[in-house]
Amino acid sequence: MNFYKNTLLICNDSEFILNKFDFTKIYQKYNFKDKKMNKNSYIVNVKCTNCGKEFNADQKNGLCTSCGKVLYPRYDLEKAKETLSKQNIQNRKVYNIWRLHEIMPVKEDKHRITLGEGWTPNVKLNNFGAKLNLNDVYIKDEGQNPTGTFKSRGLCAAVSKALELGVQDFVMPSAGNAGAALSAYTAHAGVKAHIFVPKDTPELIQKEIKRMGGELTLIEGLISDAGRVAKEEGIKNNWFSVSTLKEPYRVEGKKTMGTELAEQFDWTLPDMIIYPTGGGTGIVGMWKAFEEMETLGLIGSERPKMVSVQPTGCQPIVRAFNNGDKFATPWENAQSFASGIRVPGAIGDYLILNAVRDSNGTAVAVDDTEIKDAMYSFAKTEGIMVCPEAAATVAATEKLTNEGFIDKNDSVVLFITGSGLTTPNDW
Ligand SMILES: *Cc1c(COP(=O)(O)O)cnc(C)c1O
Repeated sequence: MNFYKNTLLICNDSEFILNKFDFTKIYQKYNFKDKKMNKNSYIVNVKCTNCGKEFNADQKNGLCTSCGKVLYPRYDLEKAKETLSKQNIQNRKVYNIWRLHEIMPVKEDKHRITLGEGWTPNVKLNNFGAKLNLNDVYIKDEGQNPTGTFKSRGLCAAVSKALELGVQDFVMPSAGNAGAALSAYTAHAGVKAHIFVPKDTPELIQKEIKRMGGELTLIEGLISDAGRVAKEEGIKNNWFSVSTLKEPYRVEGKKTMGTELAEQFDWTLPDMIIYPTGGGTGIVGMWKAFEEMETLGLIGSERPKMVSVQPTGCQPIVRAFNNGDKFATPWENAQSFASGIRVPGAIGDYLILNAVRDSNGTAVAVDDTEIKDAMYSFAKTEGIMVCPEAAATVAATEKLTNEGFIDKNDSVVLFITGSGLTTPNDW
């Protein structure tokens, strides 16, 4: 019996109990050093997603110096193909974001730090499914990551690669969760983090950042305001910015949500992915993963419909999608208690919109009351407490089912981007 199959956790399935308590397997997840493996990275360069300009991956990169848009790492996938067979991958004992090291940017094993992020479970939602008359609904529970949100994947990758390039001081604006993750990985690596957050960031997250040694600055206003100050201070002090999509490697950490999903579903993909969208790295990272996996021969050309969910009080992507725009105009007077998706303007807007459109997906807004109701009802229905951003996917699933966008037999995966335990004041 293959372990990867059993990570698709089906509630009431006795196999799940057996495997959950197989301590050798749990140990393996954290047994990062797998000496037998030759751990190459086949990164070639980083390339602008807009103008195509290429940059050396052995230097520090930010946005494209030519057009100001987002850079993506590119890999020699023909070379990577030699070792990335399905069988070879399934035999691997590394259950974190470095599992497919060939298509990750870090070259030397000593720079691949980990706190055990990734390889999160897929849980089938029988009760929620029954309530909506859907037969095949799952969550991917990113709340089980270190620091309780999927942000740990991206920051793990970005900090690791920056360490390889000699960075000692990091800077970022954050709505909170990214700051907590940055603080965790920089503490673990013994380097410094300078984090700028809106003044209304939950107290627990502020404490988390400070207790893990991050230097925290509170900013009057929104994440965009924090972004301006972080940029200024970063330039002044020569700190390396790991702001969303403004360096090329956070997206690589998020990409692993896509590669894992395919492997956990036995090299198929669901019909639909529902994702709460702020800066959009989650959606675009998975989209990149699918493209690379197709080239590697691991999946076919089918793609899930990508559904972007935003709060009614801040829905620039939904508006741009509905207007048929290539880029999204920043949202005015952004408001929502789901602060991780209260992002007025995203630098990767065109990448999000492309993924949603190319996949025949959609973009949908849900209001704060619907989000709050979904948090409470989902906890009762499934025994899982989710953060507001994640609850937005629950509310969106209800909405899209009622509107007929989701069919009864569609396989649907909701991304639970964070645990409800990270937002104690919302309960
Ligand atoms: C940051 C964040 C999001 C938004 O993710 P993006 O990939 O930046 O769009 C969603 N949920 C939570 C919990 C977050 O912290």
